[in-house]
Amino acid sequence: MKDLPSRSLRLLREKKKTAAGIAGGILAVISIAAGTAIVPSDFEVPVMLANGEIITPPWYVTVDGERVALVDSEDDAREVVKKTADHYKNKETVKIEIEEQTSTQAMKLENGDEKPEILTVEEAAEKIMSKDELTVKTTDVVTEQKAVKFKELTEKTDDLYEGQIKVKQEGKKGLKEVTKKITKENGKVVKEDVIGETVLREAEPEITLTGTKENPSVYQVSRGGTHQGTGQLAKPLDSLRITSEFGPRWGSTHLGVDFGMTLGSSIYAADGGTVTFAGWCGSYGNLIKVDHGNGLMTYYAHCSQLLVSQGQTVQKGETIAKVGSTGHSTGPHLHFEVRVNGQNVNPLDYL
Ligand SMILES: [Zn+2]
Repeated sequence: MKDLPSRSLRLLREKKKTAAGIAGGILAVISIAAGTAIVPSDFEVPVMLANGEIITPPWYVTVDGERVALVDSEDDAREVVKKTADHYKNKETVKIEIEEQTSTQAMKLENGDEKPEILTVEEAAEKIMSKDELTVKTTDVVTEQKAVKFKELTEKTDDLYEGQIKVKQEGKKGLKEVTKKITKENGKVVKEDVIGETVLREAEPEITLTGTKENPSVYQVSRGGTHQGTGQLAKPLDSLRITSEFGPRWGSTHLGVDFGMTLGSSIYAADGGTVTFAGWCGSYGNLIKVDHGNGLMTYYAHCSQLLVSQGQTVQKGETIAKVGSTGHSTGPHLHFEVRVNGQNVNPLDYL
């Protein structure tokens, strides 16, 4: 039995209608406009089965020449192939191909034959998909938005001491739209190609200033007397990332320096001394004041947690509190003040 072009099939069906009532093996030559002649066989002509049932011969769906499933009609057979391919289709799919050669083919059935096993379209599609060698290749075109990393740049400055850093400009991620062609086999990605990229927003670099000014080794307070400290302030945090400097700010004076730091990081006593205050203090939030003697005091504000209490003696470098954002604060940081004889001075000159 040979496959016939669908055009010939249509003609044949029409022919069948006109020859309604005639059963059995008709042999006729049909001339079509193009001049080709085809010889129709027994297909599409009802036959009487051994059990007395009269049916039109069913159609095979073949994969690489192998007859895999049998369905009611040629339309059903084509539907099976389409369903098999569509199984892997999604809204981004632009192309579907079945790698194997699939075709439809009428079954040769004669009067008195046993009833063949005919499947529904769904059953047949399932049977074909379950074949290991079948490969349905889909091409999807997908567009997605992706963040673009920002560059991290550093600049040197004389305004800061060595070891001090300050963010001059916060980095901002960019955004781009990426169009990709994705090839899948039986739903599994086998290839991805970027076919287009559009920048929606440029990334802005993060610029960090690093200090080059030489560190002053000691603070300018006269020593002696009952001074409990060592005479030099240590860093109150593991790293000093200045987010706001000492001095004029927004029409007033910023009495300390702000160091941006992760919530809950340790705050260390800048020098040995006595805790003269540990508690809530208005816009300072949770505050610790340490008296180092000789008129030198340090303040630690916006703490999330206080680990020492008033009257207690602390050692230089001892953990006294945790970084927080209590009081008047927009994010976790340490507001650090240095007072000399009651006068606020720039803490950076003492660290
Ligand atoms: Zn501050």
